[in-house]
Amino acid sequence: MMTSAAPVHTPADLADALALRAAHPAAWLLAGGTDIMVYLEAHAIDPPAFIDLWGLPELRGVDSRGDHIRVGACADYTTLIDDPAVRAHLPPLVEAARTVGARQIQNRGTIGGNIANASPAGDTMPVLLALDAVLELQSAARGLRAVPLADFYTGYKRTVMAPDELIAAVRIPKPAKADRLHFRKVGTRLAQSISKVVLGGRLRLDGDTVTEARLGWGSVAATPVRSPKAEAALVGQALSPSTIEAAVAALDGDITPIDDVRSTAGYRVRVAGRILRSWLESLRG
Ligand SMILES: Cc1cc2nc3c(=O)[nH]c(=O)nc-3n(C[C@H](O)[C@H](O)[C@H](O)COP(=O)(O)OP(=O)(O)OC[C@H]3O[C@@H](n4cnc5c(N)ncnc54)[C@H](O)[C@@H]3O)c2cc1C
Repeated sequence: MMTSAAPVHTPADLADALALRAAHPAAWLLAGGTDIMVYLEAHAIDPPAFIDLWGLPELRGVDSRGDHIRVGACADYTTLIDDPAVRAHLPPLVEAARTVGARQIQNRGTIGGNIANASPAGDTMPVLLALDAVLELQSAARGLRAVPLADFYTGYKRTVMAPDELIAAVRIPKPAKADRLHFRKVGTRLAQSISKVVLGGRLRLDGDTVTEARLGWGSVAATPVRSPKAEAALVGQALSPSTIEAAVAALDGDITPIDDVRSTAGYRVRVAGRILRSWLESLRG
């Protein structure tokens, strides 16, 4: 139950939502409410109003025409899990969605809410970073701008989103045939578990040689991050045992985990290295 007396604006369509967003910059956007309800229960937030995005058809659905998949910001996890194009082109995103909470949260939590909530432990962002996802940010005043997810976070729970903007959609390039994709979440349990470490990976291989590497991480820094040093250690190299060890060693310079209630920094560094090594070794056949 929502423990707030703040008014909830219910826009008729996206244009109406953008106008409300401009008129009420301190109001909170409300999608599935699965993060917001927790904050309200904990008395962690006290917004003057909400703008409810849940019922807007323009923010829902998946469009797979062309060379990318466009996922509406209010697409819930169950939609991602069931959508034929997401299943065909983006299996790690389906895997990530399957690990979020349990069925109730998957029916209500949205991809846009996960991204905008900006938790370093969010499960979709490592995969989306590995897939070079681009956000469509929209405002009434300036229209649409495209921001790579890799440029979206500026610090702990901070983003480049302006007070009059919202996330309209996530555009994800369809991976190439030569791409090897990966998702791995390390948590306490299989369901209802906030991650200790998450890895989303995409490696493009030409024979045995890595031509492109994307490694997205969760719960190892103040924001979801890529690991540029580990990626650089892979590109242009044959996927040999020494290349793999060089990438794992380089990863130390990329991640800055902390001790918290779920894990220690030392554990996270060790586990991040192990899950990277294990995936890369599996690609050697
Ligand atoms: C029991 C439980 C288990 C959970 N398990 C997991 C888990 O395993 N993994 C995980 O990653 N998360 C988990 N979560 C967190 C949460 O479910 C996800 O982050 C979810 O995707 C949030 O989406 P939402 O639509 O509910 O967001 P909301 O709660 O509606 O909003 C979250 C934030 O995003 C903003 N926002 C929402 N939509 C937009 C938009 N389109 N544009 C701009 N800003 C927007 C809101 O203003 C708010 O700041 C769990 C939560 C609960 C309660």
